[in-house]
Amino acid sequence: MPPLLLAATSALLSFPGTVPGCGPVPLTRHLTPPVEGAVIKGYGLVAHPLLKKVKLHTGIDYTRGDSRVHAVASGFVVFAGTLPDDGVTVIIAHTNGMETLYAHLARAEVGPGLCVDAGKEIGLEGNTGLSTEPHLHFEIRREGSPVDPLPYF
Ligand SMILES: [Zn+2]
Repeated sequence: MPPLLLAATSALLSFPGTVPGCGPVPLTRHLTPPVEGAVIKGYGLVAHPLLKKVKLHTGIDYTRGDSRVHAVASGFVVFAGTLPDDGVTVIIAHTNGMETLYAHLARAEVGPGLCVDAGKEIGLEGNTGLSTEPHLHFEIRREGSPVDPLPYF
């Protein structure tokens, strides 16, 4: 998964830090998971059996739950659009350079520039981009680099 989003079909907004009416939006621990589904793949290095290469899985994969995807914390939507690998994707900025990313959606239900509350439905799970079955790929990024989301739940 490329760290840069240059191939995005809609512009990546820069997060102004504090948005009027949005307030500070820290990403704290004990987050509510973004979907009801179970975790099927964790964050970390995975050996590809055919390519014989080790690749970083940059997030957590969830099975399909009731298919509704929710923001894990309040934030500011900086991206809602389609990426080559991630398919239909929503990226939400929080404070301290933290972002959450929700990929392979069937559709996004929020647009860039929107302030969302924790728990807000932001899209539907899908199978878009490089995905072989409906699931949610969820990431937490710090200053643009993915980190293990598990400690945040
Ligand atoms: Zn994944």
